[in-house]
Order: sequence, then C-alpha cells, then structure tokens
Amino acid sequence: MSVFRFSHSPIDTVALRAELANPESGGYTAFEGWVRNHNEGHKVRHLEYEAFEPLAVKEGERIVAEAIERFGIERAACVHRVGDLGIGDMAVWVGASARHRDEAFRACRFIIDEVKHRVPIWKKEHYENGDSGWVNCERCAAPGDHELHDHAHAHGAGAHAHSQGAAGAHSHESASPQAAQAPVNAPPTKRAERRADYSRQIALKEVGEQGQTKLRNSRVLVIGCGGLGVPVRQYLAGAGVGKIGLVDGDKLEASNLHRQTMYALSDVGEHKAILAADRLRALNPEIETRAYTIRLTAENASELVSEYDLVIDCTDNFSTKFLLNDVCVRLRKPAIFSSVYQFEGQLQVVRPDKDGACLRCVWPEATRDGLVGNCAEAGVLGPVPGVFGSLQALEALKTLLDLPGQLGNELLVLDLLTMSTSRVRIKRAATCPDHASSRVVRALDTTAIAGAAASEPLELSFDSLEDAEAQGLSVIDIREARELAETPTPSAKARHIPMAELLHGSQPLATTGKHLLLCASGRRSLAATEELRSRGQNNVYSLRGGVAALARRSVT
Ligand SMILES: [Zn+2]
Repeated sequence: MSVFRFSHSPIDTVALRAELANPESGGYTAFEGWVRNHNEGHKVRHLEYEAFEPLAVKEGERIVAEAIERFGIERAACVHRVGDLGIGDMAVWVGASARHRDEAFRACRFIIDEVKHRVPIWKKEHYENGDSGWVNCERCAAPGDHELHDHAHAHGAGAHAHSQGAAGAHSHESASPQAAQAPVNAPPTKRAERRADYSRQIALKEVGEQGQTKLRNSRVLVIGCGGLGVPVRQYLAGAGVGKIGLVDGDKLEASNLHRQTMYALSDVGEHKAILAADRLRALNPEIETRAYTIRLTAENASELVSEYDLVIDCTDNFSTKFLLNDVCVRLRKPAIFSSVYQFEGQLQVVRPDKDGACLRCVWPEATRDGLVGNCAEAGVLGPVPGVFGSLQALEALKTLLDLPGQLGNELLVLDLLTMSTSRVRIKRAATCPDHASSRVVRALDTTAIAGAAASEPLELSFDSLEDAEAQGLSVIDIREARELAETPTPSAKARHIPMAELLHGSQPLATTGKHLLLCASGRRSLAATEELRSRGQNNVYSLRGGVAALARRSVT
C-alpha cells in the first residue's frame, strides 16, 4: 500500500492505525482534518475535493519519505478524501509512529503542512446561499505563510475552471520560471508554493532547529552589492537569515560581471541593490529583503546600522569602511570587513560587543600598501572576491549561530596566487581614536561641516610641490618611512606623517591654513583626505596622482 493515497469513501482510521503499528515504536500521533461549516465569512453546506491523482500521489509519497528521513521515525502515512464531503467528514488523515513521541508529533505536523503546500488538490465549496466556488487556498491556511501567496490569485472564485490537465501543468515536476506567466485564472503555480528547505544545514548538530530559528530571527546589513557581496548575500539568503538589507548606490556595469556573477549582461544599467534583492527573493521567498539604492554616509549610517544585528562590509571604499567601523563600534554591533587587491585579500571581524579590536586599532600596520585598493585601478581576478565574500558569509553565520572558532582579534590574510595564509594577532590599541570614546561622537556629528565642505574639491593638481607651497599649501607626505628612503619627498619643506599616525590623530593637523597630502599614487592621500573631511577637518586636500605624477611632469 502506498504511504500516500486518495480515498473516495470515508477514511478508515482503525485500519490505518494498524498499518503503522510497529514493535520499535513507542508513540503514535495522528492528525485529522475535518470539513467545517464556514470559510472566509461564508456558511458552507458541503464541499468537493478534486486532485490530479497520479501526480499528487507521487508528491505525497515524496513528502512522507522526507518526513521519515528527516525525523528518523519508523512509519508514516497520509490519506486524503476526494469527491463530495459533508460537514464534519474527515478530509485528510496523517499518522506517524516513532520510537519517541516528539519525532512523531513533528513528522505529523511536517506532513500535513507540506501536503497543503505541495500536493495539487482543489476544493469546491458549496455555500448556504446556493453559491459555490473553487478554493485553492488550503495552503494559505498554513500558519505564518500568508505573506508568501498571491491572495487575489489564490482566492478567486471560479479560479479552478480547469480540468485535471491544468492542474498537471502546474505540477511540482513541470514547474519552471515560465510558470509564472501562467494564465490569470489558472491555479497558483507550484513555483510560488515551494518552501525553502534547510534540512541540509539543520542536520548539523551545531545548527539544528534552534539554530535555524536564530537565523530566521536575524537581521544582516550588507554594504556593497559587488564582488564580495555576491556570495555573502546568496549564502545568507540560502541559509534563511530572516532579513537582509542591501546597500549600494551603483548601477551595474558590464565590467562588473566577471566577478559579480549573480547578475546578467541584460541587467547592465540597473540598480545593483534592486537586482540583488530580486535575485534573493527568487532564491528564498521566505526572507525579507530591503534594497537601499544609496551611498552610505555619515548622515544615514547610524540609522541604517541600528536596524540590523550584524554588518558586512563588501565595499572597496576606504572611507566607507572606516565610517562603518566607527558606527559599529559606537552601536556595539559586530561587523565583518574584507578587502581584496588583485590576488590577495584580508578578513577582519570587529566585535565591539565583545570589546574586540576595531579597524582603526590595526590599520595599516598589519596590511600592505594598496590592500585597500579598488578593482578599477588595480584589477582583480573574479574568484578572489568570491573567496573572501564566502569567508565573510561563513563568519556571519558562525557569529549569528554563536558557533565556536569565530575569527577574533586577528587578521586573516590570504594570497590566493601562492595560497599562503597568515593569521596576524591584533589587539585593541590604547591610541585607537574609536576606543577613546570622544572620537566616535565626533565622526558622527560632522554632518553640517561635511555639507559645507562638499563643494571644496578633494584633489588638487600641481606641476611641482614648490607651486603648491607658493599657493600657501603645506605639504604632508603620508607614505611609510621605507618608501621615503627609496623616493624622498621632492620638497625640503614637506613634513612626514605616515598615514596611520595621521588617521589615528596622534599628530593632529592645524585647523588653519591648507594641507596637501601626498602619497605614491594619490590613492592613499585621497582616501585619507576623504576620511579627514568626514571628521570635519576641511582644510586638507590630496595631490592628484601623487609622487608618480610629479615625477612624470618633471620629465616632460
Ligand atoms: Zn579601535
């Protein structure tokens, strides 16, 4: 006898119960669904059930088999009535026998929920006023799933003016993306009815049902919808993280696609955050996604971050990373940072909620020049951000699930060309401006100042440093000492303050006069300028092109 079948006559529960009897079993549970006398404000007199039986049986058997495997029970079965039923008649019966009662209860519940979602069965209600209507909406009655269904579609009276053949067209097997374009009066597609299945991660004893609940109740903000963000958001959505916020003001460019493989060439020109949210909804309709087509700024960062439990930085933007760092330290939210450069990258998890070191505590001592580079300038091989984004997703899940082995006060550096790995111990710096509380407030209260300074250019071009000095700018070389040893600053008057010291505030710049920051290529000096401006230091500028540009000009 099949473990899932239809019955055209009243269901014989005594016989069914006997089928499940087993000497191994210490418990048996059964569920009975009965025809009630009302539905959605209508008084119901009787009703008819109809199913596309060959297909429904196949799907029903699959559900019972899943329950047996998933909950490790001994036996289970389900019988559904078809034909004409009166009030109080039993429409469906589910039984499960197991060694222990808990598994029996859970398997029974699982089977009835899945049957209502996945098995093509329709119901025609006959009302007291003489009207009647097909309702496909048993699945809508499942708790917690209302938001997943198109009610206008599912409830439409007469929606099932279709034969069994039509039901077959929306079968589990034949569901395809095209099914979404089914005729309006067709029954809802199986595609919309499918549910996320987390069984493969729930099977891990470190996750289990409890872990899954934690993930469902978690909210993660992902800044940047680029190469790092692709695996981050796909894995988080796949894992069932309840709410995912996606921040990116950029539109997709064709040059993004070699590393941002979630998108299509036909998407070029569209907002990445919106494209990403669409993809995630298709991947897992049970989660909530929010697309923010904005750039993260000092004005909006606090408000955005406060909505979430965990932040993942997937930007290639130096000033955004530090802005996020400051906000997360202040709000005591964990944040996962990664940067990639050509073939290598680094990963750091900042855990201010556990008094961990922050980005400012360690940068840049533990990194190499240019590691906070961007792909447009430096180039990158597609899988490199893919690897680091995957690591970020992994650390995020470990944090949300409170698993052991989380990356703590250390920096993980991987060179994917040589496959060399290093884990650098880091510690909270006494000199860290973020951890000397006053600094944090300052970073966030610069809105007005930043606004006033917005019209000032960040970069200036000069043929020589003498020209700059002649115009009243004081030159500050922010390169490392060893760089100066190789290529001295082409000015005797210039001061040397390495970038780390400048940003840590150990040698604050005068608020009067104008300062011109200088580095090798103009990239670090621009980043430092942006950062100082964001803190309200508006009299700083970056020398465009850095020492390299000066050298070129002196040659020509
Ligand atoms: Zn710090």
